[in-house]
Amino acid sequence: MTVKLNTDELRWAIVCAPDDEPTSALARRLHLDYPTTYEFRARVKRQGWICPLKARACLDCGQMMLMSALGGAKRWCQACRPVAERRVQQARSRTKYEAMQAASGPASRRWERWTEEERRYLLEHQNELGTPAGVARVTQHLGRTYAACMAMLYKGGLRDVDAGSNPEPTQ
Ligand SMILES: [Zn+2]
Repeated sequence: MTVKLNTDELRWAIVCAPDDEPTSALARRLHLDYPTTYEFRARVKRQGWICPLKARACLDCGQMMLMSALGGAKRWCQACRPVAERRVQQARSRTKYEAMQAASGPASRRWERWTEEERRYLLEHQNELGTPAGVARVTQHLGRTYAACMAMLYKGGLRDVDAGSNPEPTQ
């Protein structure tokens, strides 16, 4: 049973093998087939330790980036990445917010003030607001939308704002 020479760890193990270790023994030790091991070892001897590269433009600023052709493609340069990843994260939570809002029951009590009992119910069931099924249950019980429940929890002072742990896009 042989494995493919497809990780940098395996390639590096070949590079680091002692010169006097026969290629057949090296191939056996790494569970590689002999021709692949021989070919790679000979190439490293000839050219040195090289890694195929590919070039790609940063999706945001267009600056060309060089990266290993073996790993996953980088989408952003180092300067753009933090902002870009935050943007992706925000889009993800906006999508989730919209899905939860869509799961809301009818807002039959929309114009009525929240009673103390409703507020207590919401506080006790707030963990259920993480899934569409839970949202449907809680909002139907209250006759209020997901948005109204979240607003009561986070902006209505019902729950101490726990900054960052549950980012909620503002409308
Ligand atoms: Zn960039």
